[in-house]
Amino acid sequence: MQVFADEARTKGRRTGFVPTMGYLHEGHLSLVRRARAECDLVTVSIFVNPVQFGPGEDFSSYPRDFESDKFLLEKEKVNVIFNPSVNQMYPEPSLVNVFVHRLTETLCAAIRPGHFEGVALVVLKLLNAVKPHKAYFGAKDWQQQVVIRRMVEDINLDVEIVTCPIVREPDGLAMSSRNIYLSKDDRARALVLNQSLNEAERLVKKGERDVQAVLSRMREMITEKTTEKIDYVSAVDPVTLHPVQKIEGPTLFALAARFGKARLIDNRLVEP
Ligand code: AMP
Repeated sequence: MQVFADEARTKGRRTGFVPTMGYLHEGHLSLVRRARAECDLVTVSIFVNPVQFGPGEDFSSYPRDFESDKFLLEKEKVNVIFNPSVNQMYPEPSLVNVFVHRLTETLCAAIRPGHFEGVALVVLKLLNAVKPHKAYFGAKDWQQQVVIRRMVEDINLDVEIVTCPIVREPDGLAMSSRNIYLSKDDRARALVLNQSLNEAERLVKKGERDVQAVLSRMREMITEKTTEKIDYVSAVDPVTLHPVQKIEGPTLFALAARFGKARLIDNRLVEP
């Protein structure tokens, strides 16, 4: 991968990189298309990264379908599919830990300890393998792109991070490889996540400035549809991820909740 990347750079070709865990859907493909439009070469990695999964999480059952992914990526005229094995990526357990402070204290980090260290480590390794000029991430995983941006900035990585909007199903459910875990019933109930974000946006646009009032309304809506525990429903500053008390500027409403076997996340950036 590095030899290929060096040759491409020598020839002055600009590379766009889309890191994924595979089982691709239109959300992933939107990043691929953006990279295709902006760069000479597009590399997509497919790697289910064990170190970002906690004990008891779904690493072994995470959906995989390389043939279908390959078919979809060929249609998008992707130049390289980088599909390393776990052994190639981690011949030995890494003694290096990439810990991005502060940004990994809230939201998903509080519920998935070690998750963002695993993400930061693998993204750093992938960037060093692919050597792209631009790397594309989805706003679906808001905290992830905030963490990656800060890592890139703080250690002067020579790459531009591009964040692309959330792609949804026609009924509003945010696309996710994990949606495959949803039963028909769970899937219908999970629509409440997007609906609660619509409601938050509606309230703020109507003039509501009290964060707790908005969050209570969201929790109430979600609780009506799931018996499982809500992981979190929060309002944070979109860059620092600090909790917001009063809505005065752009505010990120972010949530994670479980429906059956699926843990789903979603978010919405709301401008008052
Ligand atoms: P994953 O395969 O889940 O690790 O996701 C790979 C990349 O695709 C990440 O940058 C995600 O944020 C992005 N992504 C996943 N789902 C969506 C979506 N529904 N809309 C936009 N981007 C997405």
